[in-house]
Amino acid sequence: MNALETQIYNEYHARLPAEFRGIGKKGLSTDFRRVAETCKAVFFDAWGTLFIRKQLFPGARETVAGLRKAGLKVRLVTNSASLGPSEIVRSMREKGFDFAEDEIFSSGSHLRSIAAELGIREVFHLGRNESLPTVLEAGLRDDPDPELPVVAVTSVPLDSDGSIAREERAREILSRPGAVALVLNPDVSAPLVGGGRCWAAGAYGFRLALGSGARVVRTGKPFPRLFGEALASAGCRPEEAVMVGDTVGTDVAGGNAAGLRTLLVAQCFSPAEDWRKDCEALGVWPDWTVPGIGAGFLP
Ligand SMILES: [Mg+2]
Repeated sequence: MNALETQIYNEYHARLPAEFRGIGKKGLSTDFRRVAETCKAVFFDAWGTLFIRKQLFPGARETVAGLRKAGLKVRLVTNSASLGPSEIVRSMREKGFDFAEDEIFSSGSHLRSIAAELGIREVFHLGRNESLPTVLEAGLRDDPDPELPVVAVTSVPLDSDGSIAREERAREILSRPGAVALVLNPDVSAPLVGGGRCWAAGAYGFRLALGSGARVVRTGKPFPRLFGEALASAGCRPEEAVMVGDTVGTDVAGGNAAGLRTLLVAQCFSPAEDWRKDCEALGVWPDWTVPGIGAGFLP
């Protein structure tokens, strides 16, 4: 984890309840069959935990299906805002997961209620063109000159989407009095196929708003709301649920802060033991770790 990642995650964590660091949590090695005996619900992160792009991790489907078969509630709790909520359901089905629509909780789905709170009907969208449905499904228009100066960041835009001109426009909007930057995916970085990480929307939104004077509103993990929605839907108390993810700064810190137990999947760290470095950098530890998402359900 580099210095900018550490800085941004620490800024997030400063807004979480003080007990979030999970003192006493040790990251003990386990597998999903043993974890299943201790809880009623398991919440899965998506990217880096079940898959990267179209590449599924070995055992991802078997673990989700196996826990469901064992009588546990399973939910997808994802910071994805790069696809609209209905597209997330479709893409999970395409990958062979059987999550129903009401078992999926995405940070992008909060845009509708945030817009209602801010009293806005239009935003300037900054992200990949394919992410625009996140804005449209929230009942908002993408406007180059929104009535109130609000920029919604869904994802890191691609050069092919005219990102330089759109970023310039976004900076101009964010310099106006009362401007708001909505960062709909707080992830600072994301693992890549074959190893390494790339910058993600959280870092992009952070840099964009830096020095602009705009208020930054973030939603998704590690903030409590998404966890609260998933808990309510599973009908269980925080201590009866486990958050499973690959990112210490969002999945583990947020799960701990919401009172869940947390399990870090170490499959994206190379070497695998490097997960400890992220925990040390942030002072955040999970209850358990597994080497891969199939642990306990694959031979
Ligand atoms: Mg992830």
